[in-house]
Amino acid sequence: MKKEYLYSPGPTTVPPEALSVMGAPMFHHRTARFRALFGEVVEGLKRVLQTGNDVLVFAASGTGAMDGSVANVCSLGDRVIMVNGGKFGERWGQIGRAYGLDVDEIMLEWGTGVTPAQIKEHLTDQVKAVYIQLCETSTAVATDVQGIAEVVGKTDAILVVDAISGLLCDELLTDQWGVDIVVAGSQKGLMIPPGLAAVAVSKKAWGLVKKAALPRYYFDFVKHKKSVDKNDTPYTPAVSLIRALRETLALVEAEGRDTMLANAAKYAKAVRAGMEALGLKLFSQSPSNAVTAVLMPEGADGAEFIKILRDKLGVTFASGQEALKGKIFRIATMGYLNDFDVLTAVAAVEHVLRAMNVSFTPGAAVRAAQELLVG
Ligand SMILES: *Cc1c(COP(=O)(O)O)cnc(C)c1O
Repeated sequence: MKKEYLYSPGPTTVPPEALSVMGAPMFHHRTARFRALFGEVVEGLKRVLQTGNDVLVFAASGTGAMDGSVANVCSLGDRVIMVNGGKFGERWGQIGRAYGLDVDEIMLEWGTGVTPAQIKEHLTDQVKAVYIQLCETSTAVATDVQGIAEVVGKTDAILVVDAISGLLCDELLTDQWGVDIVVAGSQKGLMIPPGLAAVAVSKKAWGLVKKAALPRYYFDFVKHKKSVDKNDTPYTPAVSLIRALRETLALVEAEGRDTMLANAAKYAKAVRAGMEALGLKLFSQSPSNAVTAVLMPEGADGAEFIKILRDKLGVTFASGQEALKGKIFRIATMGYLNDFDVLTAVAAVEHVLRAMNVSFTPGAAVRAAQELLVG
């Protein structure tokens, strides 16, 4: 018998409330019934994103919304700042260059985050937009979005934040901090399967959209706004996913957004304490609450570790990407999770390291995590 324990930084575990509605009979989307559903979901997303700005929803994985956040605000040759501290920051640069932008790419040492001072140094009058991650998932680094928003807010440039993995784990106050575009995806903190993406767009960003000349079609923000203003979508929406999202947004509401954030902080802290109790080192120098990256102990093969976890225990952790392949493993603490799930994750690490003959004090990780969880 196999049981799934999903600790990957997307997809995350989908709660039963959301799973069950996805199996309900299909209904047509050009109906009052759909508009009521969609209107409710968009309002719920606004509360999660802490914004009164327009929120647009796409049937796409998160990258679709990243693509749209470039294509809708820039023109050919525009200067943009894109922060590359890992795989997802690298993606900003790839999208920017694919559209023929003049990309000022800030390359970071993996494991570190960009500082407001660094952004300030690169900001010139020519810069149209600054692109960052709330959490760079590949390195488990959380970014000082508030500090960066303060710097960018003093200029004509807009700030675009990929919050796909950080959402509901690392704090993000869109309107209060003055973030112009926030990108969200469905399969992480929002706790539903992959396939939905969303953006929140500020007035300042709409000002750029009006002048932007890059080609776009499916992710055309203006077209989506016209529809969403009538609780509708320009193309066929992913009805099943939107239904599921209504359920998870209700769960977030019931739990409380602040409680979700506090829990993610507590869980990530417990995971970090557990790993350090085993003598393992953490990779991120400014750890996110969404995911924890842990260096494999000397001489132990990360790929084998991940494989044993998955095949023998049904536990999914993420491996490292690129140069970190086999060198780190990543444990997500996003979404549908409780104290016991966290203990399971750290116990699984002990279980497999033991099988791999790594020496440590048995029970040390569970004990350290439990101490923080029980309080
Ligand atoms: C998961 C993720 C994405 C989106 O990836 P998709 O595969 O397109 O859903 C983008 N940015 C970050 C930081 C992510 O963690």
